[in-house]
Amino acid sequence: GARGLGLYSPDDPLALLGADTLGRRVFHSSSAWVVEFYASWCGHCMQFAPTWKELAGDVEDWRPAVMLGVIDCAETTNQKICSEFKITGYPTLKFFKPFSTNPDDGIRLLHHGDGIRSLRESIISNVERSGDAWPPACPPLEAFSAAELHSFFQANSVTYLALIFEKEDSFLGREVTLDMVQFDNIAVRRVLQSNEELVRTFNVTTFPSGFLLFSNGSCNIIPVHGDSRPLYTSFLRRLPGVVRGSSVSPTVQPTAVPTTTPAPWRVVDRKKLYMADLESAIVYTLRVEAARFLFLDKERLSALKQYVAVLVKYFPGRLVVMNYLRSLDNWLRPRTNVTQSEWEEALRNKREHPYARLPETPNWVGCQGSKPEFRGFPCSLWTLFHFLTVQEALQSPRFTSPSEVLPTMRGYIHYFFGCRECADHFEGMAAESMHRVKNKDGAILWLWSRHNRVNARLAGTQSDDPRFPKIQWPPQMLCWSCQLIINGRRMWDERAILRFFKSHFSRNNVYMDYMN
Ligand code: FAD
Repeated sequence: GARGLGLYSPDDPLALLGADTLGRRVFHSSSAWVVEFYASWCGHCMQFAPTWKELAGDVEDWRPAVMLGVIDCAETTNQKICSEFKITGYPTLKFFKPFSTNPDDGIRLLHHGDGIRSLRESIISNVERSGDAWPPACPPLEAFSAAELHSFFQANSVTYLALIFEKEDSFLGREVTLDMVQFDNIAVRRVLQSNEELVRTFNVTTFPSGFLLFSNGSCNIIPVHGDSRPLYTSFLRRLPGVVRGSSVSPTVQPTAVPTTTPAPWRVVDRKKLYMADLESAIVYTLRVEAARFLFLDKERLSALKQYVAVLVKYFPGRLVVMNYLRSLDNWLRPRTNVTQSEWEEALRNKREHPYARLPETPNWVGCQGSKPEFRGFPCSLWTLFHFLTVQEALQSPRFTSPSEVLPTMRGYIHYFFGCRECADHFEGMAAESMHRVKNKDGAILWLWSRHNRVNARLAGTQSDDPRFPKIQWPPQMLCWSCQLIINGRRMWDERAILRFFKSHFSRNNVYMDYMN
């Protein structure tokens, strides 16, 4: 795929939004908008993308009452606008009622992992709460009343009125109503089981069931049994005279496709680490992840201070980068709260300090992926923390004191890592067993084995780059002695693992190639 397209393509029935279009399309719009804020590197976003596409296809015909969109917050050009929308984790789903005017109007939607159903239903529930801002293209969704029945065809110039009798908690009637938004000559309304008068008038005994009323006064049962939205919808769409209206455009306006070209593939040595990746992890954590918060204080600020302090202590970086981290650490240490603009100002490369510099943008080398959504930041973050656990063990005698790096990583992931489900999962592993880690070698092994657990879980899923399959690491090609075969079963030799880690994640194994 072209770089910059992220997880969605112009062929998907949704709007690909960017910094220049998000506000323009969503604010003051006569449609309700549902926007997925994602990060193309976030594994759960990759796993969620098919669901969001399925939802977009499912409610495609609800346009222009309801519009779906996506924005890739990992795109450098979109980071600022995502921060204005206060997006701190991915994916975040937000509903904007029509005529919304600012980012705070967005209402968070939750996905309950039951496919698209709960999402579709919560879109309807939110549309119903639009009040004065009712989308003009959306017919009424509230229950039909006996009083309305008497004058319905005088007040509405349609040939058909479909009534769907249903229980209070059923969404069928409202879904079919929205499915027919683009069709002329027909109205659809739901009637509640509790409406005794109408239930009696039509002699309804099963719910749901449907009746078709004609403007000439006749009435038929809709021959659909059961709770089947597609059957109701296709029956109604085939009625004579019911046609897709010309007043609404069925397609989303074309969205400009980003035209950035793919970065050239770099030849890398898998036996090496690259300083470009380690620095890029630092760039991304400080300039992007920590910069998302309007305000940093309490535990979150402590986690950040601890992270910067650990980098100062154990990261064997270039002199300019270390100078930069030291001055950031000094700046941060006494503070009890930091606003977003203070943080951005503190991070700025200052001309008066030419020997203290951090690259402006990340640059993945060993962590380059075969597509832009693969690898990159999460790969570099794992690498950075493995590297730090080893640096810590190499710098101070083995058995004296517990690891500082491991709790620092735990705090960072918990408070800042944008892939929220990843963070929750990691926190689960940490809560279960991190307290049993006694020393710095133990920290190396803990992180190695938990990372392998994550690899095992993710192998073969959407976030697995086919060019870099998730394996139990290290492979034999990197370390023969790490694996023992005992009675035909593969076992790890932890002493060999430690030896291998201390050479693989050592300063001498870090290449300075491809530095910005
Ligand atoms: P990565 O797994 O990122 O590994 C980077 C590099 O580290 C590899 O290329 C290899 O050289 C080396 N390596 C691999 N295994 C080990 C090991 N055991 N010990 C030491 N080095 C190793 N994605 C999800 O979809 N769901 C999740 O729940 C999830 N949780 C995550 C939790 C954390 C804390 C992090 C940092 C990331 C998480 N991710 C998750 C992202 C996922 O783990 C990968 O980082 C991402 O898919 C990129 O994969 P990759 O192929 O670049 O290899």
